[in-house]
Amino acid sequence: MSLQLDHRRRAMLAEMGVHLPEAAVRITEPESGPATVVARPAVADLSWSALQQAVAGCEACTLCQQRRHTVFGTGAPEPSPGEAPPVDWMIVGEAPGEHEDLQGEPFVGQAGRLLDNMLKAVGLQRHAQQAPGGRVYITNVLKCRPPGNRNPQPDEVARCEPYLRRQVALLRPRIIVAMGRFAVQSLLRDSVADIESQPLGRLRGQIYAYEGVPVVVTYHPAYLLRNLVDKRKAWADLCLALSTASRPQG
Ligand code: URA
Repeated sequence: MSLQLDHRRRAMLAEMGVHLPEAAVRITEPESGPATVVARPAVADLSWSALQQAVAGCEACTLCQQRRHTVFGTGAPEPSPGEAPPVDWMIVGEAPGEHEDLQGEPFVGQAGRLLDNMLKAVGLQRHAQQAPGGRVYITNVLKCRPPGNRNPQPDEVARCEPYLRRQVALLRPRIIVAMGRFAVQSLLRDSVADIESQPLGRLRGQIYAYEGVPVVVTYHPAYLLRNLVDKRKAWADLCLALSTASRPQG
């Protein structure tokens, strides 16, 4: 579908609070004549490679202005370029930090080293085609770095959320491990009442669901670096994830 929007009608729509999302439209402005808006498929319809491209070019919030790289996610090699890799586990963190922004890969700093060790303990290894515990995919709620590693803002989370939802729909992991407050709030917002006021510690130890995929809640590795005593609890959470992922699925 294609529709013509001149500047006056676009201004009128903006005045009414209608801002067409970047992922949904492409606006071409010819030298003269009205702008053409070409409808793109919604994020929920994108293929894996189209989703990667949409994230790489995303300008849905102001975080795009300072990023060096978007951070889509990483895991087992794609079976053929642009196809979703088959995965068993999906790890969801908060947002890229400085190192991740530089390298375009999630969890490559100090917290990432701890995450890799935690994964190793349950037989998982990033980039491995096969590992004893299965294949793992690692991503974040936000695909761009918040400046100075500040907390994600609610509107940034809301604008990025369709990308995570589509990643889950295409990957269909056996288990999602939500690491830290922001991942937990994003994934469980629809299933846990008043999620913002629930301490993370109280949400642990249960299986939830996101888009039909089981979800286990645990602490963020950066938190565990500062709170060593809770590593024991994080280990229990990973064991719960492991037993859930090993269950036959119907
Ligand atoms: N913290 C996160 O939540 N994600 C990263 O990618 C790095 C640090």
